[in-house]
Amino acid sequence: MSDASAPAALADAHVLIVGGGASGMTCALFLARAGVASTVFDQNRSILKRAELHNYPGVAPVRGPDWLAATRAQVEGFGRSTFVDGRVAKVSAAAGRFTVEADRGTVEGDHLVIAAGQVPTPFLEGLGLETVAPVQPYVQTNVVVDRWGRASLPGVYACGVVAGFPSQAVVCAGSGANVAVGIVTALGGEFWVDHDELAKGE
Ligand SMILES: Cc1cc2nc3c(=O)[nH]c(=O)nc-3n(C[C@H](O)[C@H](O)[C@H](O)COP(=O)(O)OP(=O)(O)OC[C@H]3O[C@@H](n4cnc5c(N)ncnc54)[C@H](O)[C@@H]3O)c2cc1C
Repeated sequence: MSDASAPAALADAHVLIVGGGASGMTCALFLARAGVASTVFDQNRSILKRAELHNYPGVAPVRGPDWLAATRAQVEGFGRSTFVDGRVAKVSAAAGRFTVEADRGTVEGDHLVIAAGQVPTPFLEGLGLETVAPVQPYVQTNVVVDRWGRASLPGVYACGVVAGFPSQAVVCAGSGANVAVGIVTALGGEFWVDHDELAKGE
């Protein structure tokens, strides 16, 4: 969907994504494809930086850092996402809006996506989200989410290992895409899919 044809609710929305690893980056990509703006906050500590992926379907073995760089370039190519490098210290909610306070600036938005991976999440403390004890090794927080990645506070979503998904890049990336589909569907008022068709004759 191009910006020109996007319903105003999509064009006006601003999604704050905490975490720019497998899940957060993919969420930003799918949002950008729908014309939805996002700000991705990331302190460059994705565990993908230590991975070499031999099980990402349809893709030749790829180094995690290369996947991150290529995906970020892909996201940036759609011109709807801003990247704020550095640590998020605090997230707050008031009157249906969210504020993310990071080392390099404070940004407001109307949706919040938690894609912080397996590290501790002290920045979430003020939100009072429902969480459960993680069953996966190394994972510090599990935000309770529904089938669309919606957390217990309206407007808040989570994806990737912080939302309880298995620590596999394709699963976490898919969970970020799923959150984006849910947000775009809710904003646009009809079920949204991001499908491109082969040119005629191919
Ligand atoms: C050594 C190793 C090898 C692996 N090999 C494979 C493999 O072969 N195949 C496979 O499928 N998976 C593999 N994985 C797992 C894969 O990397 C993870 O499943 C995936 O990266 C999880 O995605 P995520 O988005 O949940 O978390 P991450 O990719 O870790 O992203 C979380 C992001 O949140 C950011 N963040 C967190 N807190 C803050 C904060 N306060 N402020 C700002 N930013 C913040 C971090 O900087 C990070 O970039 C491997 C992992 C490791 C460690």
